[in-house]
Formats: sequence, structure tokens, C-alpha cells
Amino acid sequence: MSENSDENRYQDFYGREFLVTPDVLVPRPETEQLIDAVLNLVGKPYLPGVRAALPVLPREITILDMGTGSGCIAVTLKMEIPEAKVIATDVSEKALKVAQKNAEMHGAPISFIISHLLEKVNFTPDVIVANLPYVDAEWDWVDKEALSHEPDLALYADDHGLRLIKELIDVASSLYLILEADPCQHQEITEYASSKYGLVETRGFILVFKSLVL
Ligand code: GLN
Repeated sequence: MSENSDENRYQDFYGREFLVTPDVLVPRPETEQLIDAVLNLVGKPYLPGVRAALPVLPREITILDMGTGSGCIAVTLKMEIPEAKVIATDVSEKALKVAQKNAEMHGAPISFIISHLLEKVNFTPDVIVANLPYVDAEWDWVDKEALSHEPDLALYADDHGLRLIKELIDVASSLYLILEADPCQHQEITEYASSKYGLVETRGFILVFKSLVL
């Protein structure tokens, strides 16, 4: 990570630099696989031959990045799939300002909405992607000191880290729902979603769900 002041830094994500402040989560390599998962949905696979079974979506899809933080996911998706309409939400106004700066820096036209989950979202996106907070404060393998420079709001959730992910599953109605969570949580999430969403695949920390009702 390169630094330009004590507070603000730049972090590489999917080959691009992103401004990171204390108001947002630092982009992590495990989240890059979320980008690959969306690219696969529109037939732009970076890992050839991984998937032939799914029908390819048109690139003009609407993608909602929920809890965008630095905006690294939303900006990367807009840069990689320029035909897509990308909307980014966050409950934190400060985070959205950082995301807006990153979108401007990369010339990525993205719409921003301040919202707790889908509360202020009045349309149905084709794809929801979400790297919500999922760390359980009780996990003893987590290096709390290493995480202490990032906002708790972006990292920790109640219900063993699953409160927001479950809340999102309750309200989501998109064709695809792509989530990041710790691999130890994947089974519980898959079971929780199973009346609405079927698991298509997992890759690292990423879960790809397809609606069973649409
Ligand atoms: N993967 C991150 C970590 O374990 C957490 C990211 C998140 O909560 N969304 O540090």
C-alpha cells in the first residue's frame, strides 16, 4: 500500500488504485473474486472454461453494489463492464464521499444512494453484489489490532457476523445475489437463503446465488 498522508492511502484493487481513508474498509484481494464472478455472468470470463452451464446475461445489466465503502467494487465493475448501469449504496455518508472520489478519479459514471440495505432503493437490480460487514467479534483467529484502523461499521455484525447478510437475503429480489463472507459462514448463509436463492458456486470468500423465484 502506498501512502500519501497519515490518513489517506491508495490501495490496489483489480489493477487500479483506490483512495482509502479511515472511513472505509481497505480493499482486499479476496474481494477481487467477486469481480470475476460478475464478469463470468456477462460472459467475460477471466478464468476460461470455469463455467459453461449458466446462460450469459446481457452486458447492459443493472448492478447494485450494496455497502460500497471505498467504491472499489462498483468502480471496477463499471470499468470492466462499461455497458452496465452501476449503482452504489452505503449507510455511511462519509464512505460514499470516498466512493464518489474514486469514481471521479477513474471516470466511472456511477449513481450513489445513501441507504441502509435496500431501504432507499426503489428499483430491482439484475445483480446485487455485497461485501457487507461479516466479522464476528468473538472470532479468536482475527487479528483485531490489524483491523483497528478500519471502521467497525464496515467489519463487524451481530448474529455471529451474519445479521446484515441475513437481512439482505430477506429483502433482496434480484436475479443474482453475490456475497462475500468468511468460508466458515457459507453453509449457514446457503441454508438461510435456500427458500429464495439457490447456490450457483463459491469461489474463495464469494458466494454466487441465483433467484429461485424469478
Ligand atoms: N475479509 C475481511 C477480514 O476478515 C472482512 C471484510 C468484511 O467484513 N466485509 O478482515
